[in-house]
This record gives sequence, structure tokens and C-alpha cells, in this order.
Amino acid sequence: MSRYMTKYVLISDSTLSYSYRDFPLLDFLPCAPGDKIPARVYKFLKGPAPDVLSNGEAKYAPYAIRKIEASLLRDNPRKDIAVAHEDYLANFITDDTEIIGISTMDPLGIGPTTMSYVALFGGDLDSWVRREWDALLEKVNKVRHGKKAKLVVGGPGVWEFTILREEIEKYHFDYIVQGEMDDTISELFREISEGNIDKKMFYQGYMTYDDKFRKVLKNDDLFIARGVSERAYPSLEEIPDIVRPSMKGMVEIMRGCGVGCDFCEVTLRPLRYYPLDKIKREIEVNVAGGNDHPWLQTDEIFEYKHEKMFTPNQDALTDLFKTIMNTKGVTTTNPTHGRISIPAAFPDLIKKLSDIMKAGPNNWIGIQTGVETGSDSLALKHMPNKTMPLKIGADGSFQEIVWEGVYNETKYYWRSAFTIQVGQEQETEEDNWDSIAMINRLSNSYVNGRPFEFTVTPLVNVPLGRIKSRNLNMMLDPVQLGVYYASYRHLAKMSIRDGFRNTSGNPFTKVGTGSIISLGGELMLRVVEKVAKRNGVDIEKVKKYGMENVSEINTLNTMSRA
Ligand code: SF4
Repeated sequence: MSRYMTKYVLISDSTLSYSYRDFPLLDFLPCAPGDKIPARVYKFLKGPAPDVLSNGEAKYAPYAIRKIEASLLRDNPRKDIAVAHEDYLANFITDDTEIIGISTMDPLGIGPTTMSYVALFGGDLDSWVRREWDALLEKVNKVRHGKKAKLVVGGPGVWEFTILREEIEKYHFDYIVQGEMDDTISELFREISEGNIDKKMFYQGYMTYDDKFRKVLKNDDLFIARGVSERAYPSLEEIPDIVRPSMKGMVEIMRGCGVGCDFCEVTLRPLRYYPLDKIKREIEVNVAGGNDHPWLQTDEIFEYKHEKMFTPNQDALTDLFKTIMNTKGVTTTNPTHGRISIPAAFPDLIKKLSDIMKAGPNNWIGIQTGVETGSDSLALKHMPNKTMPLKIGADGSFQEIVWEGVYNETKYYWRSAFTIQVGQEQETEEDNWDSIAMINRLSNSYVNGRPFEFTVTPLVNVPLGRIKSRNLNMMLDPVQLGVYYASYRHLAKMSIRDGFRNTSGNPFTKVGTGSIISLGGELMLRVVEKVAKRNGVDIEKVKKYGMENVSEINTLNTMSRA
């Protein structure tokens, strides 16, 4: 076996390195409870081991790791840095290694999607994400044993270690790093190696939020964050281009959001828009690596270079998508996130973007949308700007705005993956009935004879204190469970419709994956129904709720748009 004298070895969550059969919703599979999905089924759906280069490095790596790699390369020679494939760690972790850097998204399985299953099934924190994290750390620590290499963890999931602080002993971390570090990672790694951390540049502790969502700093020697006297975030110029291909062709187009929902950390970060040439350069790296589908990382695509508050900059958006689609080697593309009010208010923009992206029955533009509720009062309380430039009241109810958005999205071949929350602050039963009504109406609506295309995943707001106390048995009341039931009922319908259409691979794998997804959707619905009935949910009421005037809505719309 070849061994390399690698100073800095970078690794990622296994769950972010596997393809999960390239089926969009299967990326969430690791959030499911370990004891509810048999290991054989999980491993099949996870797909084959990721591609590896001849020296044992990963051919593709999650975008966050590619950014750290690129930042380190600004100050260090290539030979000092490796993005290791998890099956070839011993090639790189040697006596010369100074730092092993691991990036993670949901290590302990307390991220929102994972907790939505815990809320339903109760029991221990034993999701597949956590099982995979434990297995990866066991591998890393085994290879690292007896060597000087320090273990440093970073990435969007590190907040979880602040919540379950007492559980992290077993991982033998040296440091947990919080925040964007594109501009300072070389310096930080050098200081960690030398055991001499500059307290002005870096803060030993972490940032968290109080119950009013204000930033609070907590001293803790295990954690490192950006120094309080430093700028809180790197500027656009300090963010390097990736130099090797990212997983699933991901490229960033902007950071920050600015819509201001009161539960969201992203909105507190400054907006930084990538210029077109920077985006193009990163896409070219991925195209050279064999990926012809750029996946555009943004928390709110419709805010890209916006000038008027909350109104999309249509020229900037069309230029962006034209530049992407005109990049040599690109065939298709889609953004990661966007709000629904823009398709509702600007159908012509959506049509224009669809034309540029060549959207159609065989090329749906997938987009994740935090629709979060069907209730006017909750939307106004927690995310008053999310419908902007439309206003709840003057431009219809929140549900009507969402309905109009999905109408235009389906019409122009966009498919939203909605999240909907239960357990929000000041939520009432009536709010959750509104959410049930919204899901039912959307699920039974049509545009030009085609059913509305969207998925909806329920998420639960779990008070952090409850995670700490590990009191994780049934957390949902009957109406909240009704929201789960309505969501999974629609998901089962979608999985039968799209399970085969969207899976990739050879025909046998396609049939296998398609069958499991269709069956999985149906089985999951049955499981949710069982839990719901056991907990007093009136299933028949949930099925019919809000459906009184659906055919009327469809007919009126067909007539008024004829
Ligand atoms: S629109 Fe999305 S990313 Fe922006 S603040 Fe609201 S929840 Fe956060």
C-alpha cells in the first residue's frame, strides 16, 4: 500500500459522500431510525462506494470539504493536503500527519429532519446518520492511534456537540471548529499543530442563541470560533474557488439570505453573491470531473443580487442561468432552495428560467422550499417576509399564495420539496389544521389536467432542553400527528408516481430502487397511520379536512385562465 506524507487529511461524513442512488429524497434516508430500516435495505439504497482516485483520495467530495481544501492550498503545497476516501485512510494518516479535519452535517442525529423521525417513533437517538458517524470515527481513531495527528471537526453540524456536550468524550476530538473559516483555516491549522492558538484571532468557545434568538458566546476550551475582534465572516474575495469536483456537482452561488425568518440562522449572515465568472469557474471544475449538472447552493435563489427589497432581480437571474447553461459541458441544472412567493407572483420569470434550463416532463427543476405552515397567523409571526413582495391579506391568504406558486411551478416543470413545521412557538391546534388543509388541497389540485408536483416533509421543533434531558418519547399531539399523516399520505402518492421515473442506474437497480421507494412510501404511510391511530388522531377527518371546495378551486382556475 502506498503511503503519503500528508500534513493535512480531510474527510467527510459518509452520508454526504455516497450517492444514495441519485434519487433526490433518498439523501434524507440516513435520518431514519436505525432499527426501522433493515441494514440490508439501507446499504442497497445507499448505493456503491464512492469513486476513488489511484492514490486513495476521493474523486468527489462534499462542497464544504472542497472549500477547505482550496483554502489550504492557498498557503500549502498540494502534497501536504489530501481529501481521503474513507476506505483508504491509512494511505494518508501517517506519523507525519498533523491534522485530520472532518466536516459534518448531522453527526449525533439531532438535526431537524432526523428529529422529525425521533418525534414520531420516540426511543433512543439511533438514526442511520449517527450510526454512520460512529462507524467513521471508529475507523479514523483506529488509524490515528499512536500517532500525533490532531482530530479537528467542523461543518454545519457542530452545534450538536454544544447540546450533547457530555457525549463527545468517546470521539477523542482535539477541537471542534464553528463557523465559516475560508480565510483563516491555514492559520488555524498551523496554530493547532503548534499548540499555540492566537486568542485575538480565534475565540475559544462557541456562539449560540438565547431564547430571543440573540447571539451568546460561551467559553469552552474544546471549541474554536472566529475571534470576537475579527470580522464575523469571510468576504467574497476571501472565499476561494474549489479546485477539484464536488459531490453531485454542487457549486455555491451566494451566502446568506436576508429574508429574516425568526427561526433561521442563515439570515444573520451577510449576503455575498458570487459573480458569474466565479460560478462558471467552479462549474468547469465539476464538468471536467464528469458532472454535467451543476447543483446551485443557495438558501434563497430569488434573492440573488436583488436590488429592491424582496423583489427578484430578473435580469441577474436570467443572466445567471444563461451563464450556467452556456457553460461548455452543462446539460441541466437546478438551485437548492427558493421561496414559493416568487413563482406565485412572477410566473413569467419562472417560465423564462424554465426555458433557459430546458425544463420539461423529463427534466423537472427540483427546489427545496421551507413553506413551514398553512396558517396565516404563524406565517405572519415567524416569517413575515417570506411571501414578499406579496402580502398576506392584500394578496390573498398564505395558503392561496402557496397554491398559486405550486400552480405555476407545476405548469413550468418545477417540483418543490416542501418542509412543514410542527411545534413552532405560539402554535395552536387551529394552525396545524390549516397546514393539513393546505396539504390536502395542494395534493388534489391540477394544472392543465396534470396533478400538482411537490413533496412535503414534516419537521418538528424540539426544544433543545428536551434533547438534553433525552426525554424523547412521543412529543406530538394528535393534530401535529395529523400534519404528519397528511404529509406522508401525499408522499406515498408521489412515491408511486415518481419512484421509478426518478431513479437512475442500470435497469435492475432502477427496478430495485423504484420498488423500494414506492413500497417504502406506502409502508411509511401505514406506520404513520398506526402511530396516529394509537394516539387518537381522527384519520377520516384529516383525510377530508379542507377538501370541501377543492374541485371548485380547480374549476374556477381552469375557467379564469382559459
Ligand atoms: S427564507 Fe429560508 S434561508 Fe431565508 S431566512 Fe427564511 S428560512 Fe432562512
